[in-house]
Formats: sequence, C-alpha cells, structure tokens
Amino acid sequence: MDPEFPADDEDGAPGAEFDALKQFHPAGRGPWADVADRDWNDWRWQLKHRVSTVEQLERLLPTLTAEERAGAILAGESKLAVGITPHFFNLIDPSDEFCPIRWQVIPRLEETARAPWEMSDPCGEDTHSPVAGLVHRYPDRVLFLVTDRCASYCRYCTRSRLVSNASGYDFHPEFDRQIAYIASHPEIRDVLLSGGDPLLFNDEKLGNLLGRLRAIPHIEFLRIGTRIPIFLPQRITPELCAMLRQFHPLFVSIHSNHPRELTTEVRDALGRLADAGIPLGNQSVLLRHVNDDPGVMKAHMQKLLMCRTRPYYLYQCDLIAGSSHLRASVKKGLQIMESLRGHTTGYAVPQYVIDAPGGGGKVPINPEYVLAKQSDRVVIRNFEGRVFEYPDNGTPTEVRTSAIHFSEFGKD
Ligand code: SF4
Repeated sequence: MDPEFPADDEDGAPGAEFDALKQFHPAGRGPWADVADRDWNDWRWQLKHRVSTVEQLERLLPTLTAEERAGAILAGESKLAVGITPHFFNLIDPSDEFCPIRWQVIPRLEETARAPWEMSDPCGEDTHSPVAGLVHRYPDRVLFLVTDRCASYCRYCTRSRLVSNASGYDFHPEFDRQIAYIASHPEIRDVLLSGGDPLLFNDEKLGNLLGRLRAIPHIEFLRIGTRIPIFLPQRITPELCAMLRQFHPLFVSIHSNHPRELTTEVRDALGRLADAGIPLGNQSVLLRHVNDDPGVMKAHMQKLLMCRTRPYYLYQCDLIAGSSHLRASVKKGLQIMESLRGHTTGYAVPQYVIDAPGGGGKVPINPEYVLAKQSDRVVIRNFEGRVFEYPDNGTPTEVRTSAIHFSEFGKD
C-alpha cells in the first residue's frame, strides 16, 4: 500500500483514546459546586456568571500562564472580550496547557502578532454589505447579522472586528432596513441569521424576527448559525424549540470543534432541536492545538452523528488578525480529509473549505482523487490508494484491467 494513504489503525482510530473521546460526560459544576440546580440550569444565570476578567481567570484557573494572563489583560483593554460560560469553562483541563478547550476561549499574548496577510475582515463581508448588518455575497441568499453578542467569545472569530464591540464597531442593526432590502430582492430565497449569536435573543424577539422574514413570500428557507447549543445548552428550552418549529423549513448550523464539547447537556439540547423537526448541521474550524489531528477529528465527526447533527463544513481558519498561533496548515486539513473519506460513514465527512480571502466565497478543497481526465475516461483512486479507470463517453472502448480495477465497492 502507498504509505501516503493511511490504514485504519494509523489514522487515530480505533483505540482507547479514541473511544474515550466519544464518551459523553456532563460538564460538571467545578468551582460552582454550591450553585443550586435551578440557577445552574438557567441560561440567564449562566450568562450573568460568565468568566470575563483577569481576576476571575486567575482565581478559577490557577495554572493560567504568563501568555494567557497578558492576553486577557489586552482583551480587557481593547480587543475581543473574554467571556466564557461556567458550563464551557468546566470543560477546560487546568492541568493541560494545551487543552483544546482552553485554546479556543482564553486569550493569549500571540493575538498581538499580526502577519502581513491577516485582516480584520478576512471574508470581505463589509464590502458586500448593501445595508448595515446584511451581507449579500451569493446570488440567492443573505447573511443577516442580528447581534454582536455571543455567549462566549472564540479567539479566532472571523467577526472579531464586530462581536463584543471589539473595535468600537458600533453595531446597531436596523431590522426595518434589512428586512426591507430582503423584501425588495425577490432573488433572495434563503436567509441565514447569525452575528454574534441569534439565540441570545429572548423567544419573543427572535420569534418576531423570524415571523417577519417568514411573511416575505419569496423566502423559502431560514437558517440560524449558532454556538449557543455548545456554550449554553441551557438556552435550548422546550419553549424555544416550540417557537422555532413554527417557522419551518428552518435549519440550524451549530459550531463545535472538539469531541469534548459534546457533553451530555449538549447532546440533550441538540436532541430537543431535532425533536422539533430542525435539521442540524455542524461547522468546525480547523485549529492548531484543538482538532488538527485525524483521530480527534474522526471522533468528533462520529460523535456529532450520535448527537443527530450532520458534519457540514470544516473551515480552514480565516486570515483573521492575530490568529497565526491557532492556524493549522492546509496540508494538515487535506491529511485529515484523507483520513475521513472512505474510512468512516459518508455522513461523517464534512466539506473542507477555504473562505477565499477578501470575499471570494467558500471554495471546496479536496484531496485529489481524480488522477487523470482524458476524452474518453477518467482515472481515479479510492481511499486505499487503489487506482481505477472509469470510461466516460458512454461507449467504453478499451478497458485496461491488468493494472486497473473497477470498483467493487458499493456507494455509501
Ligand atoms: S460564537 Fe461565532 S460569532 Fe461568536 S465569537 Fe465564536 S465564532 Fe465568533
């Protein structure tokens, strides 16, 4: 076998470590052991008690490093805010400086380093914004940025120019102007609500917004992009689910990066959304120290399916300013995709994409499976590295079978 193509036992699976990653555990109470159940399970209590200051970090995480302390001071002064729900904070392993949860939400001094190719608006959203808070990049759909607040703040956020008012962006979306734009553009059939996190709105406000969009005849499809089920699963109440189900077809895209994020609380919250008839997809960002490992990624994808959530996109980390320390290489991303395709359920394989810098949109990136294209045939390889020829003119002329095999595999 070509060593370029990993065998199942070389790509991180299976094994005790892999199996452990797929286990579901509660987040636990950690330093909040004395908090009453009623408070702990109340999403507003979780938001009110977010970890957001250097002093809290020093007290709750005695192993805070000098780089993290400096990053937290900087964030408190001028950058993307620190904000970590108690639920998510409890997933940090204090004994591990390279804990994958820690690297996502605790700022580091490295955020001050800005590579020449990094930008504050790497996806060029501002240049495709006909109305403040609305991005019309693709022909038939819009991105509706409804808030600049999140339950917790990710250090690699593509919209770190905007969320938590990090750069004095003064984000005050005027829903009337945005909805008027959508209503006056009949080519728009799909609206993605994002931000910030739309599920931070209370049920009434979010229901009102969804109702106004649903009333526009040419809107076929609504989507919500959210990390709330991961950061704040307590927000996914039966009342929220009952409200959301009035607006079908409505899809929800969550954002999770590591199997440890998929706790029992998260699995149950996603189950409530799925029971409300909401199709669930997941978007992950490829991050150094977090999930740039084939075994971790495979465990995460498989665990998402157990949470009734289909892996949707794996993003190459955008060129957001100050994110170099978190960015894994495209080569690593391709290696991970190679380790998934064919080696696990097709539903567990996301599409790896690069959001083209400056506003080019999502470009799919795949390992090369087509080895040659000729006028009458294509030569392809499978996940094991075996080479096959497929006649492509409807009348196969010469099929060489000595060194080339037709696939004996069924489609999955
Ligand atoms: S939840 Fe989304 S919008 Fe909010 S900080 Fe994280 S990546 Fe950015």
